[in-house]
Amino acid sequence: MLYAGCHLSNSAGNLAMVETAVSIGANTFAFFTRNPRGSQAKKEDPVDSAKAVQALKDHHFGPLVAHGAYTMNLCTAEESAREFAASVLCDDLRRMAALPGNYYNFHPGSHVGQGTEAGIEHIVKALKKALEPGYPVTVLLETMAGKGSEIGGRFEELKAIIDGVGSPDIGVCLDSCHVHDGGYDIVNDLDGVLAEFDRVIGLDKLKALHLNDSKNPFGSHKDRHELLGQGNLGQNTFKNIVNHPVLKNLPMILETPNDLPGYAREIQFLRDLQN
Ligand code: FE
Ligand code: FE
Ligand code: ZN
Repeated sequence: MLYAGCHLSNSAGNLAMVETAVSIGANTFAFFTRNPRGSQAKKEDPVDSAKAVQALKDHHFGPLVAHGAYTMNLCTAEESAREFAASVLCDDLRRMAALPGNYYNFHPGSHVGQGTEAGIEHIVKALKKALEPGYPVTVLLETMAGKGSEIGGRFEELKAIIDGVGSPDIGVCLDSCHVHDGGYDIVNDLDGVLAEFDRVIGLDKLKALHLNDSKNPFGSHKDRHELLGQGNLGQNTFKNIVNHPVLKNLPMILETPNDLPGYAREIQFLRDLQN
């Protein structure tokens, strides 16, 4: 089953997102758990969430892939800021329990000059504190382009976090633009990149995909998304992805520069690429 969707606004609540997703032919979606560039979260609405859970079931949705705020940097240099980020993570995970069985993805963080090792230590510490056994949501680390001091540009870094946390409730969301910009050649050697992922992390940890084309060349470490088929990844890369036995059943989230009608077209574009 192809589970395709895009990033949606949660301003009207959870049920409204499901309805919007259905209206554009999506059967998964992503949303920010709070203001992406601030830390403000919406008031919780258990009735709305219960209705959303039922609607997801009625429409046979695949797992959702929520996204943590960009400002949540678990490995920032200043201790009080780091503790604040860790408390945001805890609060997000607690809120996500209203949508059990889904994913919560976030950017591991930027070490801002402290070094990769110190950054990973901070991230591990925050995740260990936030993840409780039996928690109904799986946390996903996003593969990053390796821009600036970003952690997660190399599979080894994600593996170090996963091993450090030592919880079964942690996986990876692979962003096609990010891995391409980060120097993993999914255009010419998707199988090779997946073999490398398997060798370093293990494919059982790969839970979701962000599908974006890239405005920048291979290995540029830039991270600028482009419409599917119109950047350096090209249509054929997405054809390979939607038909790949390892990838074709994972939730696929579009984060392309688009509006709702455009997302509806891109979701259909993905379905048309299926063999
Ligand atoms: Fe992201
Ligand atoms: Fe992404
Ligand atoms: Zn990106």
